Amino acid sequence: MKKIMIDLDDTICTGGYLEVLNEYLGTNYTYDDLEDYYVESILKEDKLEEYLDHFYKYINVYDYVTIIPHAIEVIEKLTKKYDVYICSAYVDMRRPVESGRMATLKHQWISKNLPFIHPRKIILTGSKNLIECDIKIDDKFSNLKGYGETKLLLDTYHNQKYTEADLKERNVRRVKDWLEIEQLLLNEEVETLQ
Ligand SMILES: [Mg+2]
Repeated sequence: MKKIMIDLDDTICTGGYLEVLNEYLGTNYTYDDLEDYYVESILKEDKLEEYLDHFYKYINVYDYVTIIPHAIEVIEKLTKKYDVYICSAYVDMRRPVESGRMATLKHQWISKNLPFIHPRKIILTGSKNLIECDIKIDDKFSNLKGYGETKLLLDTYHNQKYTEADLKERNVRRVKDWLEIEQLLLNEEVETLQ
């Protein structure tokens, strides 16, 4: 059975980081205002430090997230045919100690929202690049290097800057949504992937 590693943030759930930032600042930023992976990169240095202290001490970003359409149902279907792992990095090197709390918050959210994933198949790590699997699904291009015969980049606001040539060089395929992933991994092209 092929192993699939699926990312969490902006792959299964999305949105929380921007809502938390807007609530903290009293602003209405949208994803169109952002280019970077870290939404708080729009803050100036002193405000950023204050925000990170607040975020890692008090906020559970998973109280704010929404589930990406069809993610849960497609992942549940994938578990019938593949060995599925949810893998999320939780270490923020700007706050390496305080961000340890994120491991608990991520574990709780995954357990509640993807109850069909065995607890041993939840991988919370600081080094995602060391984990070997056959198929990777992630929204972050830099996570799609290294191992993996099939690497799917879920289309989102911060990965638009990567061109088709960038993707080809790393053997990555861009997918627009979870229905395309379903089609690719469970339907028509499955033979070519195996
Ligand atoms: Mg992600």
